[in-house]
Amino acid sequence: MSAPELAAQVADRLAAVRERVHEAARRSGRSPHALTIVAVAKTFPPEVVAALRDSGHLDIGESRAQELVAKVDALGPGLRWHFVGRLQRNKVAPVVARASLVHSVDRLPLAEAIARHAREQGKVQPVLVQVNVGEDPAKAGFSVEEAAEAVGRVRALDGLACQGLMTLPPLEGDPREPFARLRALRDDLRATYPEVQHLSMGMSADFETAIEEGATMVRLGEAIFGRRDATA
Ligand SMILES: *Cc1c(COP(=O)(O)O)cnc(C)c1O
Repeated sequence: MSAPELAAQVADRLAAVRERVHEAARRSGRSPHALTIVAVAKTFPPEVVAALRDSGHLDIGESRAQELVAKVDALGPGLRWHFVGRLQRNKVAPVVARASLVHSVDRLPLAEAIARHAREQGKVQPVLVQVNVGEDPAKAGFSVEEAAEAVGRVRALDGLACQGLMTLPPLEGDPREPFARLRALRDDLRATYPEVQHLSMGMSADFETAIEEGATMVRLGEAIFGRRDATA
């Protein structure tokens, strides 16, 4: 499909997805306005992101540093970029220069590197701490047991603002339980650290469940952009 054809489709798909997000929020007695849809644009070209922007949608996610840099530089200011992927330390500086929120702080040396670059760039970088709630060996993130200490250390770093938690549930099995576990962890942490608010959980296949379990941000790729190349 050509970029203009795809661009016309994504705005329609986003409207349908937004309706489902709002329904799930209403079902669980929550305000849809408290929910952010992050449109994860990986593998899709800047023209398609521009179509979302033109329809009024400003929260865009990327999982690779080079792709984030290329799209931000192609599109200019005016969007809020979310970095959601595994971040290598040698890619931290360009991501910090562009990201509104880094969802995927999965180890302390990475947190320290982000903090250092944020200080050098004169900003405070909002981040989420990634927790491997399903204890899935294939997934990054702190274990549930490590999470409280990790959040304590991350929030103490000058240059970082820890705004919440993020997870990717195991591919197999019902995601409801892992989502509920992340929420319980957030509730515990928030009692000590009031700024730990966000729950970034839920993707195209399970976002309604995630919202029912308390997600404040859902990260949606295929539901908005359509199928991607399986290698992405
Ligand atoms: C790709 C990706 C998503 C979006 O996945 P979909 O299944 O296409 O909705 C969400 N979160 C992360 C971390 C991703 O890499």
